[in-house]
Amino acid sequence: MNQTIELKIKQHYVAEIANGYPLILKEAAEPLDETLDEGALFKIVRPNGKYVATGYYGKQNKGIGWVLTRNPQQEIDQDFFQGKIKSALQLRDEFFEDDDTTAFRVFNGEGDGIGGLTIDFFDGFYMLSFYSEGIYSFRNLIIEALKETVNYRGIYEKKRFNTNGQYVEQDDYVEGEVGQFPIIIKENGVNYAVDLNDGAMTGIFLDQRNVRLSLRENYSDGKTVLNTFSYTGAFSVAAALGGAYETTSVDLAKRSLPKTIEQFSVNGIDYEQHQIKVMNVFDYFQYAARHNMKFDVVVLDPPSFARTKKMTFSTSKDYPKLLKDALAITAPKGIIIASTNNASFDMKKFKSFIDKAFKESNQRYKILEQHQLPEDFVTPEDYPEFNYLKVCIIQLLK
Ligand code: SAH
Repeated sequence: MNQTIELKIKQHYVAEIANGYPLILKEAAEPLDETLDEGALFKIVRPNGKYVATGYYGKQNKGIGWVLTRNPQQEIDQDFFQGKIKSALQLRDEFFEDDDTTAFRVFNGEGDGIGGLTIDFFDGFYMLSFYSEGIYSFRNLIIEALKETVNYRGIYEKKRFNTNGQYVEQDDYVEGEVGQFPIIIKENGVNYAVDLNDGAMTGIFLDQRNVRLSLRENYSDGKTVLNTFSYTGAFSVAAALGGAYETTSVDLAKRSLPKTIEQFSVNGIDYEQHQIKVMNVFDYFQYAARHNMKFDVVVLDPPSFARTKKMTFSTSKDYPKLLKDALAITAPKGIIIASTNNASFDMKKFKSFIDKAFKESNQRYKILEQHQLPEDFVTPEDYPEFNYLKVCIIQLLK
């Protein structure tokens, strides 16, 4: 049993937590006893001692834990987790019925009532991600709850926490069938190879589903497409299937080459008709500019932070510069798909980066489409700050 302690929060934060804000901010509470183990339950009370909510102690970048319930009688047991998982599954009925899309998120942390936990579905396999030591202390209850609720082929897990935020290499298998990876999932009819036991990432970022669909349907036919920070080339595959004349995928990780070849191949596309470059995107921009290359469509989907031997890149500081580099090699009237998953700024700020870059490049533009997290990535209704994904599809006006 996880121990329960009383956590007094400052008056200023009471209304927000009582009304539905899910995160327990560090500054909202009195300092914690250093020896307290993560996973401890918080009975969150007002300065006068009156009950507000029940939460758990789990350290993530912004907070010290998450609210689980506002009902003082609610026990945090297997039934509790089962109830949350059941409601989350019901919300995704349509995804389960759609044969063209066999991978999606079934449980999205705070949006589904348990911050720090996500569950993704990959053609019968369930993959749980635990984002703190605290939520991991409930692992067995959560896995039992899941097993009671769904029919599964297999269950995998990712521990997305440790002392320095790095993923720890481990065997992620939990239960059921041992996956013969890669398995092939479908997204709007497109095949993607997925490996649930190969480090922190699986081969596909499910939150970009609608953006990939739009790229394929609206912006690819006959076009040259540059996909930067391309990882396994998921955007390149979408573009190729949308009729792109040629795609160029650029990523500095060596694994991106075989992984991108694989993603093309599982869709019957001849990868030799496409360019796959293992190199630093910023070097590629210089190379392309020197050779006067122009692309009809440029996809920018960088990690929030990246460090190489020569430089560091942070989306919150350097996005305008990234856009300016991209603009220099985008064809007249071309399209830039600008994306970021940095939760530290909102859509308004992101658009100000776009505006700055275009002004400084003497270019005019129009935002044709705007995307945030798709329907299966449920976020808390009144708190848009948890909707971290921001994508703008931008057309150059000259
Ligand atoms: N756009 C991808 C996901 C990007 S993940 C998709 O849709 O699937 C971030 C990727 O950026 C990683 O594969 C990483 O290797 C790559 N990366 C980070 N810094 C880079 C740099 N300076 N140049 C090229 N690739 C970089």
